[in-house]
Amino acid sequence: MSENDRESGLSTRAIHAGNPPPEPGAPVVPPVVMSSTFYGGGADDSAALRYTRYGNNPNQEQVAAKMAALEGTEASLLLSSGMAAIALTVLSAAEVGDHVVTSRYLYGATHQLFTTELPRRGIEVTFVDPGDEAQWRAALRERTRVLYLEVPTNPALRLFDPRVPAALADEHGLLFAVDATFASPVNVRMTELGAHAVIHSATKYLGGHTDLIGGVISGSHDVVRGVRDLMKLYGPSPDPHMAWLLDRGLRTVVVRMARHNQNALALARWFAERPEVEATIYPGLEGHPDHSLARELLDGYGGMLSVVLRGGGEAANAFAEAVTLALIAPSLGGVETLISQPRYTSHRHQTLEEREAMSVPDGFLRISVGLEDIDDLTADFDRALRESQR
Ligand SMILES: *Cc1c(COP(=O)(O)O)cnc(C)c1O
Repeated sequence: MSENDRESGLSTRAIHAGNPPPEPGAPVVPPVVMSSTFYGGGADDSAALRYTRYGNNPNQEQVAAKMAALEGTEASLLLSSGMAAIALTVLSAAEVGDHVVTSRYLYGATHQLFTTELPRRGIEVTFVDPGDEAQWRAALRERTRVLYLEVPTNPALRLFDPRVPAALADEHGLLFAVDATFASPVNVRMTELGAHAVIHSATKYLGGHTDLIGGVISGSHDVVRGVRDLMKLYGPSPDPHMAWLLDRGLRTVVVRMARHNQNALALARWFAERPEVEATIYPGLEGHPDHSLARELLDGYGGMLSVVLRGGGEAANAFAEAVTLALIAPSLGGVETLISQPRYTSHRHQTLEEREAMSVPDGFLRISVGLEDIDDLTADFDRALRESQR
């Protein structure tokens, strides 16, 4: 199958896109190529240079072709982490004196990058309420170069319409970058909604097995070339083994996401009925503030679910101590169910007042719903909910 074959379904692309053509005697699974450098290139043909820092090791290229096929973009680039993808995408379009407008709902490290690191390099950043078109518009300056959005958001699981900043970016010739880690390309292809650069932490659903750190950016050849040029200089290039692991994870990403979507929706409905739970936050529930937008934009509501327990932080701690199947750990998107309290992880630098303003009060638990049997998960959570109220 050609890596650009956009006629096939998503599962077929996830399995076949980017694979080398089948030849008698060749391995069905492309081997990991543990070589930093390759024969060829030279004074007369520098374009043919293959070097793993350039991102053109065979494993890196196979994964990139697969991701481009999944996203429906001209190109993709694999980097050594989600943060590398985010930082270099922004830096590829903004330099000293330039300006970035971003949604104020951001992953913790992205927030830190935008509040400390970019300003330190002479790039100013304005934060907006992403649901308010007037705020995006009012924030634009002559030197604005990038609009940035993350959806769905962590951990409040809000959705904002990417078509609003997309239209502004097109009108003004800006780069519109979207971090779609929580949705994965299975639940939404962001370029269909106007994104120019789609970013994923491949550490999460793309890898899916909690055993690698990686990031991907997808877009036009031009956009991806800009990021690759910086990757060559700053050096966050993925190693071939991680690329191979990611390729392996991607082959099942469609079936995994279907099960994440299914388990999380079932659990959300289950939590919503429980008296120990003050609020259940899941875009697939009718009471969620962005439910109708989620229905319109997404092919699945995702595997992330948040609950607020009655009894605040004490109840959340008791719950976390009582679970035996679900594991207490940060990160998300793997086959196993993980639970974290944002007040101890992503939001540990914020005060209670600040967290409450972001709808993350004490008692808030974020659940990355895994692929276990739903009855085993509800049995575990049933016990933990009872313990939480003692
Ligand atoms: C985890 C995460 C990142 C950072 O990815 P790393 O692979 O850990 O660098 C960025 N954005 C979102 C939404 C994430 O969940």
